[in-house]
Amino acid sequence: MAEKKFSVSTDTRTTENGWTKAPLNPPLGGTSQEGKTHVEALPKRGSGEGASRFAPSPTGRMHLGNIYCAVLSWLSARSRGGEWLLRIEDIDTQRSRREYADQIADDLLWLGLEWDGFCRQSERSPLYEEALAVLRPYTYLCQCSRADILASQAPHETDGRVVYAGTCREAHHTSGALRIRVPDTDITFTDAHYGPQRVNLAEHCGDFILRRRDGAWAYQLAVVVDDALTGVTEVVRGRDLLLSAAQQIHLFRLLGQEPPVFCHAPLLLNAAGQRLSKRDVALDMGQLRQRYTPQQLLGLIAHLTHCIDKPEAISLDEFLQVFDWAKVPLDDIVTS
Ligand SMILES: [Zn+2]
Repeated sequence: MAEKKFSVSTDTRTTENGWTKAPLNPPLGGTSQEGKTHVEALPKRGSGEGASRFAPSPTGRMHLGNIYCAVLSWLSARSRGGEWLLRIEDIDTQRSRREYADQIADDLLWLGLEWDGFCRQSERSPLYEEALAVLRPYTYLCQCSRADILASQAPHETDGRVVYAGTCREAHHTSGALRIRVPDTDITFTDAHYGPQRVNLAEHCGDFILRRRDGAWAYQLAVVVDDALTGVTEVVRGRDLLLSAAQQIHLFRLLGQEPPVFCHAPLLLNAAGQRLSKRDVALDMGQLRQRYTPQQLLGLIAHLTHCIDKPEAISLDEFLQVFDWAKVPLDDIVTS
């Protein structure tokens, strides 16, 4: 059987790597760039040392944990002369808000984190369709009600994971959520921070969802398509998504794409030992911007990541000078 090649038709992308010129940088403040997404590529800024990305969901104000990930991915990219891309993960149309995306951009620029490319997942549906066409032979429809929504969202270890048993594999449903069959074999990869990993997808998650029953794209598919088509070579994010890397590597391979290097970071915890979340309102960017200057906040993050001894104000350039993944701890970091 001839192997299908994952390729993207030229009318859905205009830049070499699928990125469109950053419509938020500038302008900011909700200025709509409708119809202007297909414009010329940004000039190359890095020295060709790949690209890292920051991919927030616009479902609220960012908190310290989000900013920490943004700073780490920016430093990781810039420290090797690479590009840094901003992707707004707004496929969940129920929870995503344009205002939050604008606020994310504003918070990043307040810290001095400028991106070289920008995209919104909500504008990339044709690309996900094309990838799905390649994956079709491995998919089937599932009508199980309990797990499908949960499993299509970004899974977090702390939320308890759902392993799908493959109930509908041979059911030949004509509607429902679209799942991909996973092999009962180990996927191995080396995380740049946490080292060698071995994950059996059948045990870890079972056949997982690519498209939800309501037609919404699932997190794993959109992330893989975007990382593949935008030239992302390194993924920096919290270690709660470490096991998702195996699901994503599986999709990369089926699509004939080279997976990026995964570099997971320890989580930031609150005083109660819980992962920082929107519940920790004192640490949301609205509050942080009142309490700190950008340099003070960078100093706090530099201190939390063991890059400086005391939480003293530093510039982004100074942080870049002292940044080294080898200094960043493996254990989760308590912020107070
Ligand atoms: Zn099912």
